[in-house]
Amino acid sequence: MINKIKELKSKLGNKVAIPAHHYQIQEIVKIADFVGDSYKLAVLCSKIEAEFIVFCGVRFMAEGAVVLASADQKIFLPELSAGCPLADFITAQNMENALTEISDVISEQIVPVVYMNSSNDVKEVCGRNEGAVCTSSNAKKIVEYYFQKGKSVFFAPDYNLGINTAREMNIPESNIIKVHRDLTFRQTELPATPKLFIWDGNCRVHKRFQINDVTDFRQKYPQGKLIVHPECTEEIIKTSDLSGSTAKIYNEIKNSPGGSIWGVGTEYHFVQRLALEFPDKIIVPLRKSVCSNMAKISLKNLYETLKSINDHLENGTQLRNLVTVTETHKVNSRKALQKMIKIVEG
Ligand code: SF4
Repeated sequence: MINKIKELKSKLGNKVAIPAHHYQIQEIVKIADFVGDSYKLAVLCSKIEAEFIVFCGVRFMAEGAVVLASADQKIFLPELSAGCPLADFITAQNMENALTEISDVISEQIVPVVYMNSSNDVKEVCGRNEGAVCTSSNAKKIVEYYFQKGKSVFFAPDYNLGINTAREMNIPESNIIKVHRDLTFRQTELPATPKLFIWDGNCRVHKRFQINDVTDFRQKYPQGKLIVHPECTEEIIKTSDLSGSTAKIYNEIKNSPGGSIWGVGTEYHFVQRLALEFPDKIIVPLRKSVCSNMAKISLKNLYETLKSINDHLENGTQLRNLVTVTETHKVNSRKALQKMIKIVEG
């Protein structure tokens, strides 16, 4: 299968590009043209010139690529059912309702900041309400940007990333309000200063890490360092040595001296790959936690997608696994994605 993919890839040449997320299996990562976290891949996809982009990741990432790509580019997801349960925690209607309810009880403007891991419909509501997308590597910067303008922020869908960002920014407890999925939230004693309203969603892959995993790691590797993703619970972040996006985890481990011992609290395939890439270090998963959606991308469906592109070019047959986004929804979600890039890159 690997050889067949390589053959097709070289036949298609620079017509096709294959970006892959860090959480993909090793075989896919090896074949990909570039690998990164969702922020890096979003920026890269806005710059790629290939006519066909086969995105090895989950649906919201491919949708983001559709939004940032030019009109003549086509984006594919080798398995269309590869979604993200975290993104499913909030719908566009939930967002609209939450923004209305919050506006009714505060005097300043409420601006949405949505995590990259959300549907395109949610990003559309975000852009339409002057908000920005964020990733785990820039959430603090984006929330700070709006706070400095005296605006309150509605952060969705990941509660853990929201609360961990709030802690990093030292936002007072009185200014942090959890918005439950039935739209109830604390409405009393709200200070006049900017507030962070956080939606109650979570990523089951990162929520899985428990405090006894930390205890076990500390007992087994007393000299080891623990680094975890900010989608983990606040308790796990507090008991770890470091936290950060997949890009930060990768760089911290890469730049550590040979012989270092690392416990890593994020998706298992990524940890497995770190261990393969840096054999001079001891790298162990905090717990084996796999994202079953990321794992839906296989060599077989990647091959079938490339073959469908090739057949289409040769015989005009129908393309498979094409990802599309409603044209009217592109404008505002693009605004929200570009706003993130503008705030981060200046
Ligand atoms: S790891 Fe979590 S946030 Fe990432 S795609 Fe899987 S379910 Fe979604």
